[in-house]
Amino acid sequence: MKAAILVKQKSPLVVDEVQIPEVLHYGQVLVKVHYSGLCGSQINEIEGVKGPDRFLPHLLGHEGSGVVEGVGPGVTNVKEGDHVVLHWRKGKGVESSTPVYKLGGRTVNAGWVTTFNESAVVSENRITPIPKSFDMKLASLYGCAVTTGFGVVQNDAGVKSGESLVVFGAGGTGTSIILASSLASAYPVIAVDINDFKLENARRFGATHVINSSREDARQKISEYLSSDADVAVDTTGIKEIRELAYEVSGREGRTILVGVPKAGEKMCIDSFKLHFKKKITGSHGGDSNPAYDIPRLLRLQESGRFSLEKMVTKVCSLGEINAAIQELREGRVIRCVIKMC
Ligand SMILES: [Zn+2]
Repeated sequence: MKAAILVKQKSPLVVDEVQIPEVLHYGQVLVKVHYSGLCGSQINEIEGVKGPDRFLPHLLGHEGSGVVEGVGPGVTNVKEGDHVVLHWRKGKGVESSTPVYKLGGRTVNAGWVTTFNESAVVSENRITPIPKSFDMKLASLYGCAVTTGFGVVQNDAGVKSGESLVVFGAGGTGTSIILASSLASAYPVIAVDINDFKLENARRFGATHVINSSREDARQKISEYLSSDADVAVDTTGIKEIRELAYEVSGREGRTILVGVPKAGEKMCIDSFKLHFKKKITGSHGGDSNPAYDIPRLLRLQESGRFSLEKMVTKVCSLGEINAAIQELREGRVIRCVIKMC
């Protein structure tokens, strides 16, 4: 089967034929991947923002959808033929050992879940079954972007109706945060980005105000739009100055949620005195989402017609086009790109 492999950091992925492990071990599930999302985390992996990668060469990708083709011993939550979302946060079931693939005679590593491969051996606790009627392309977004977005709003920030929220970065995760805060009746919901295309899209998902920080002074504009500081400020960019700004624009009793991953070892500078009172700052780990609980309930909500994710996917490509798609994501030309695997 074909897979996109990270062979060397800061280099394009290598798309090649990889051999699937012959035996499914305890807790492992074989999934035919239908769609895989492309997320900023994979760019971070390729760029090596967390430092040297001791698992090279390895497979990657952490949000997807597919169909179960086989189950190993001990697997009870899914069976052959089930439609599933593949996610990186732990859900229900066994945490298996990680699979080892082969490229020629060489070992290719993989984590508990990978999705840039036509077939994947994944850990039972990294998949959640979904109704067969659910759109597989949109289902892939529930592996990371959507569950993280809702988790940030509901778990990390605990947004209440009428609270104000500012989100920096209107990519896939930022857009999901905007959608979730809009559904939670936050107001205003302000999106900040340097890209007009993303800001226009943010409006479709519920942003009530948008600021292009390449042309406008974001700090000043936010003050203009809010009668006071923000109740919640979220950074999805991981950029030091923007993380600091997010902290600054959240009010005396505001919450700052850092979602974007910073460069390894990079420090930020804040006036911590305010934290002795009621101001809070926290780093999010995937919105603290619990896929086994969150995916079914959010799917139900989507099926009820309360929201549509169709406009979140602004590009669909093939696995062979993955490096070009990664470049488009880097340049901010897509909200979410989804790879059609079969
Ligand atoms: Zn992700």
